[in-house]
Amino acid sequence: MSDRYCVFGNPVHHSRSPAIHRAFAAQCAQDVSYTAILAPIGGFPEAVGEFAATGGRGANVTLPFKEEAFALASRLSERARIAGAVNTLDFAGPGIRGDNTDGAGLVQDLTGNLGLPIAGRRILLLGAGGAARGVLGPLLDAGPRLLVVANRTVARAQALARRFAGVARVQACGFDDLGGESFDLVINATSASLAGDVPPLPKGVFSAGALAYDMVYGDAATPFLGFARSQGVERLADGLGMLVEQAAESFLVWRGVRPQTAPVIAMLRAARTPAGQR
Ligand code: NAP
Repeated sequence: MSDRYCVFGNPVHHSRSPAIHRAFAAQCAQDVSYTAILAPIGGFPEAVGEFAATGGRGANVTLPFKEEAFALASRLSERARIAGAVNTLDFAGPGIRGDNTDGAGLVQDLTGNLGLPIAGRRILLLGAGGAARGVLGPLLDAGPRLLVVANRTVARAQALARRFAGVARVQACGFDDLGGESFDLVINATSASLAGDVPPLPKGVFSAGALAYDMVYGDAATPFLGFARSQGVERLADGLGMLVEQAAESFLVWRGVRPQTAPVIAMLRAARTPAGQR
């Protein structure tokens, strides 16, 4: 029988993770099956327990369970501990090990696929939810000159910056406080695009040659990328590359081999995905 993995989410029916992991398994000649499981709100630990008890080897975790997964894990990778959120569960070994591959996935997409060195750059991270928390540590590790976190609820941005106070200097603010600053890389880690919204950014927030990156992805340009284009930004990227790269990191955690991502990104782009969900 194949080794079983899954992604837990709610909703989860739009998830591209089964297609991604099946492609990885075929590419790496690994006998792996991967399904999407709808965990009930309030029933996540039970759903994980049942999957593990019936032979599941590991799982990805998506909205809204990443913090519950963090609480559920009895062992944590350093990057999951720093993030306070878990997107990868590993049932090999004693207990449940929690990891977070989102940040490594984003950094690999930016530096590897998009050719944007992060060292020395001025970065604006929009949002302070689970996605922002997962990527902040790996972004800081890559050595930006400046990293500003801006969020609709300023207190959440401040709390996130305080979490990293011992690691590096992170500035926190609201969208209104951004006037006058310009950035080489603006990452939208809010879920605003899913609702057709754009965080209210001042003119001039993108520096010349900036890259605008939306973690959300879909068939058409997201509202944030449309806004960036209207501001003259030519380098635009959605979160599909990050999605595939974080999946490759999870596959590495479970199987000890990192699949090639370029053919899988190309496959998904050709298949055209519905907006927003992993
Ligand atoms: P979350 O924990 O629910 O956080 C949502 C964030 O978006 C918060 O900062 C929230 O601000 C902000 N927000 C929501 N609506 C907004 C609006 N209309 N205007 C401005 N800000 C708004 O969600 P998450 O887990 O961080 O996920 C965020 C997005 O990243 C999701 O769309 C998810 O699909 C995507 N994502 C993609 C990948 C990938 O691999 N591509 C990986 C992870 C996540 P407040 O704090 O003020 O509420």
